Amino acid sequence: MSEIIRRDPRREWIARNRLHPDYASVITDMGGGAAVSEWLGPNGVMRKNPRAVGFIGPNGVKRIDRSGLQQGGQSAATTTAPQDSRRTVTIEDPTFLVAVVPDLTGGRLSGHDKDLLGLARRVADANAEQPGVVVAILFGEHKEDALGDAGIDRVVLLDDDVYAGFSPEARLAALSAVEREMAPRFWLLPDSPLGGADLGRRLALRLGERAATGVWQIEADHAAPLGWHCTTRGAAGSLDIQRPLPRVALALAECAEPVDETRHAAKLLMLTAPVPTTLSRIEDLGQVAVDPAGVALAEAEFILSGGNGIKEWDAFHHAAKVLGATEGASRVAVDDGFMARDRQVGATGTWVTARVYVAVGISGAIQHLQGIQRCDKVVAINLDPGCDIIKRADLAVIGDSTQILAALVAMVEQQRGGQRDAA
Ligand SMILES: Cc1cc2nc3c(=O)[nH]c(=O)nc-3n(C[C@H](O)[C@H](O)[C@H](O)COP(=O)(O)OP(=O)(O)OC[C@H]3O[C@@H](n4cnc5c(N)ncnc54)[C@H](O)[C@@H]3O)c2cc1C
Repeated sequence: MSEIIRRDPRREWIARNRLHPDYASVITDMGGGAAVSEWLGPNGVMRKNPRAVGFIGPNGVKRIDRSGLQQGGQSAATTTAPQDSRRTVTIEDPTFLVAVVPDLTGGRLSGHDKDLLGLARRVADANAEQPGVVVAILFGEHKEDALGDAGIDRVVLLDDDVYAGFSPEARLAALSAVEREMAPRFWLLPDSPLGGADLGRRLALRLGERAATGVWQIEADHAAPLGWHCTTRGAAGSLDIQRPLPRVALALAECAEPVDETRHAAKLLMLTAPVPTTLSRIEDLGQVAVDPAGVALAEAEFILSGGNGIKEWDAFHHAAKVLGATEGASRVAVDDGFMARDRQVGATGTWVTARVYVAVGISGAIQHLQGIQRCDKVVAINLDPGCDIIKRADLAVIGDSTQILAALVAMVEQQRGGQRDAA
């Protein structure tokens, strides 16, 4: 075959014109299948496509892709699966330990947990000559198969029944045992209302430390006793306070980037001395069912939110009831009188922190996305595969809202019927 590189001026022109309808396919072809940020031009000169660097992050904000693997992923549908390029890091002789106690809600690391582990890694890796290790103390059974990918070097697994449910005394006894045996330099917990916030404050009291709460940033500081200072949010979120980072810190979500470039050993560690487990003065009577409609939006864990794409509001309310979800709405749905004002999600409504947020017939305007940026998983049901909520969504269902909600309700009712029959 001829070695001559033939130019195609039209394709080159399209490649320079980001608004051309064929831009994505041309740039993809030039990269041999995936949109690339660099390719060899016809004259042997390397050409750069600065817009292909990075990808649209979960909040709709462009993020720079440091691994170089998610290039050009403009939408969820076109993103190619990244190859695994993580660097494996094994630390045999650590100088110190950073203990992290993730919430591990439902047996999985939450987004908040992963941010916290990212923060722990920053502290552990700050000095390459004196590396630290991140030790995760996990209560209850976990369902994570890639703890090392989240930045964990060592794992202390405490899956005894005694740690199930609300068991602060048993957990505190276990953390005290970790303190005795391993003496971590830092203790990091998520400052989450239903998790680390309570346990972290108890731990600080037990260790005689003045915990830093609401931590959202840390900086190396040689003048500080432990080499770091932190910025915490105080005065009901209205003030930032700077102080040296103490041994016990409770951090907010987005306090750091989650680990995405390295893979760690997640080696199991055992406590040598038995942990006392018979000191419970608290009896956990289990969770009490509440009416999801009565749950404040800001505290709801599962939200079904409706927008201008809802055509049958009775069917929407029925679906929320069957799914056991708290109802939310876009501003258009509220302005049109379909939903109450206190149900509006977004910049001028409520900022929600649900673990699962289902947006039905909502386009994903920036004001709405602002309100859901701290949600863990977003599911979008929409007719338009190109709308902004789809870019933000972890799972997108393209179709008519009425039909999809009806199918969902039928599926849940069928499953519940099957469970009742079996019982
Ligand atoms: C100062 C200011 C503050 C604002 N604050 C907020 C705020 O706090 N919260 C907020 O939500 N908005 C807010 N807005 C409004 C915001 O800009 C958008 O107008 C609004 O979020 C759009 O609501 P929507 O997505 O429901 O409607 P639309 O933008 O009309 O989107 C409807 C979506 O439904 C889809 N659809 C249509 N039919 C169907 C169907 N049959 N099945 C499935 N999908 C369907 C469409 O594809 C579309 O994506 C604010 C605006 C301003 C200027």
